[in-house]
Amino acid sequence: MYIALRDQLKHYFYKKPFIWKGLETLQGLQYWWEYQYYYNWKLAPNKSSIREVNVEFSSACNLRCQFCGLDHEKPKTLMSVELLQNLLDTLLNDPHFSKVQVLNLYNGGETLLHPKRLELFELIAEYKKRAQREKKHFPEIWMVTNGMLLREKLSAQLLEMDVLDHLRLSLDGGTPERFEELRVNAKWKVFNQNVKTFCELNNKRQRKVKVSSITIVDDDKPLNTSWMHPEFLELLDLMDHKELRRAHNWAGDIEAGLVKEKNHKMGCGMLMHQMVLLPNGDVTVCCNDLNSKGVVGNLNKQSLLDVCNGEERRKYLYLLLKNRKKELPLCAECETF
Ligand code: SF4
Ligand code: SF4
Repeated sequence: MYIALRDQLKHYFYKKPFIWKGLETLQGLQYWWEYQYYYNWKLAPNKSSIREVNVEFSSACNLRCQFCGLDHEKPKTLMSVELLQNLLDTLLNDPHFSKVQVLNLYNGGETLLHPKRLELFELIAEYKKRAQREKKHFPEIWMVTNGMLLREKLSAQLLEMDVLDHLRLSLDGGTPERFEELRVNAKWKVFNQNVKTFCELNNKRQRKVKVSSITIVDDDKPLNTSWMHPEFLELLDLMDHKELRRAHNWAGDIEAGLVKEKNHKMGCGMLMHQMVLLPNGDVTVCCNDLNSKGVVGNLNKQSLLDVCNGEERRKYLYLLLKNRKKELPLCAECETF
């Protein structure tokens, strides 16, 4: 809900720079308040500021998108069942994380590339059911995928498991040609068919999974759908929610003309509200960090709470409060959200 609301506000205010500036000031004030509340004055000692946890099943990806900041040369790692279980136990049982609203199966890499993906999904589904039985809070399960591996059989299996609450698809470019140019190695026909099939199967199950898309639009095109190819419009029509956006710079990892510079502001909502679990147990500060520059702990050696409140993460929180992001290599060139 929080994430959807944030996206809607971003979309609504995108073309209103004056209001956008005002909102950024408000975001800065919110950051200041949350910093004091959770980390300085500690007014809620049994709660954390985290609202979203991202999980990277696989650090490898089958595509090579033009705008992606992922270092495809880095060693490939895969998440183990034990590590995921460790995280799920925490989310189910530790009250500090009872305000986590979304478990996002996404970071660098493609989630569906994990060879034991079904085992991992089944484990998540089991925790979801356990939470319902025990009447405990459990986050919604969101997955972002490039869609190339979401074949009919896998779609049916995922829907049968009842594991996902929300599926987000990367639907970039606005035309099949531009889609394939931007998303190198992707095939429009395969993607198109996979998305349609998932939506058809989902419709037969009362649209239990919300489906949304993120579309990166080139700077020379308007940020609307009026110019898009009919096949794109057909897919966009299937979405419960669609977001059109310009490319961003993945914490400064991308310099190409695809991204525009934005003024920096105080604080960072992503840092305050998000943590990302990588397949080797490392925890990094946000999903903008595709190459482990912002690792602040490791779940194989520490609890999630210790990482959240640890010295390394607090250094990030403090320096961004003081507008000193230039001192953090990860954040220095980030446009922030
Ligand atoms: S943007 Fe996503 S799908 Fe594209 S190469 Fe990067 S991780 Fe893979
Ligand atoms: S400033 Fe950018 S890189 Fe740093 S924590 Fe925020 S979103 Fe992540």
